[in-house]
Amino acid sequence: MADENSIFVESSISMEERLVNQDYTDLTCYLCLGLVFDTRQCSNGHIACLECVKPLTEKVGSKCHCGEPINLQSLSKSLVANNSVKKLEVYCENHFRLINGKWEEYLDQQGCNEITTIEQSESHQKSCPFNKYLCQHDGCDVELVRVELDVHEKGCVHRLVKCDLCQETLKSVNMNGHIVALCPEINEECLNGCGDTYPRKTRDDHIQTCPDQMIGCPFGDEICKEKDKRKYMDAHAQASWHIAQLVIKTNQNNKELKEENDKLNNLIEQLDYDMMVLETQLDLCIKKKSMEWIIPSDPKASTWKSNRFQIRGCTFYLDFGRNLSGAMNWYIFIDKPAAINYTIEVTEKDGPPFTKKKMSKEINRFLQISSMSAFQRKSETKIKLTIGVLSYTKPLPQTY
Ligand SMILES: [Zn+2]
Ligand SMILES: [Zn+2]
Ligand SMILES: [Zn+2]
Ligand SMILES: [Zn+2]
Ligand SMILES: [Zn+2]
Ligand SMILES: [Zn+2]
Ligand SMILES: [Zn+2]
Repeated sequence: MADENSIFVESSISMEERLVNQDYTDLTCYLCLGLVFDTRQCSNGHIACLECVKPLTEKVGSKCHCGEPINLQSLSKSLVANNSVKKLEVYCENHFRLINGKWEEYLDQQGCNEITTIEQSESHQKSCPFNKYLCQHDGCDVELVRVELDVHEKGCVHRLVKCDLCQETLKSVNMNGHIVALCPEINEECLNGCGDTYPRKTRDDHIQTCPDQMIGCPFGDEICKEKDKRKYMDAHAQASWHIAQLVIKTNQNNKELKEENDKLNNLIEQLDYDMMVLETQLDLCIKKKSMEWIIPSDPKASTWKSNRFQIRGCTFYLDFGRNLSGAMNWYIFIDKPAAINYTIEVTEKDGPPFTKKKMSKEINRFLQISSMSAFQRKSETKIKLTIGVLSYTKPLPQTY
């Protein structure tokens, strides 16, 4: 049923075109030349619609075609004209139809033949059984009289319907396509032709087990490129050459891995070498170095020698020894002539620290550190030696 909210399709036919008697000369507005409405007349009786004459009253000096001035005071209403217009007879709007931009009368019984006065025409128009309404369904532009519209709307292709299978709501016009290609609930026959039927939404599951689905050999592409229907693949995979191929492939992979490993090892060796070169170069740049040793107590005061260390390519060590006369002496030994300065700090356990600093000494093979005979290794002793190399005989480039 078209409800009361149905959209009424209004006709755009003019009142003049609907007149039964087309001669309305005496009731013509001299401005719009149409039927006069809400009449205003000049003092000479020339009539015009209020709507047409109003703009003129707002302009100073406006005149009627007879020369009379036009303003709100000079114009008067014309009840005679208004009443005459109301009594004119018109056909119902629905007596006409638009054909190629022209209003024409219906030739058959499809139009309304009601004739009313203009005064009564509005009330007829509201209830005319020939009024047309627009179909209520979204996207439909069908206009029909109410009785026919009721029938149309029930079958309109734009009406919303629910799929019985999946409950989705869609336009009736799309239902066929939905069932044929989209509805997930509908049963479909396997596309591989295995003869099985299943709800469309489970197609992916079926493909996983379908005996007619094309699959690759279970040994994988690298071993075997064979593709066949699932139902034949079991027998195919029994062929013993698969295993032989698998062994060959595995060995090949192992060999490749080993080669890769060797390459990496070579790279590590190269990096180690590069680092050693860099360390040596860095060592040549360092001009000052501090060394620290802790030597245990030794009441017999044996000699002691530090490890060797390098500064700017010169090799040093500290020596703590007994001279020919039996006195304990401290020496810095060097492998080549160099000018150095040094600071030595010696602390016997529980004793006060002793510091000695010397600037720029040229030494050739060794240097005796004087005033050190007090230290005789009577208790654990900490020694910190800092040497700065000021100039030296450049070492020959090292080779590896
Ligand atoms: Zn006039
Ligand atoms: Zn007018
Ligand atoms: Zn009618
Ligand atoms: Zn419709
Ligand atoms: Zn469905
Ligand atoms: Zn199948
Ligand atoms: Zn295979």
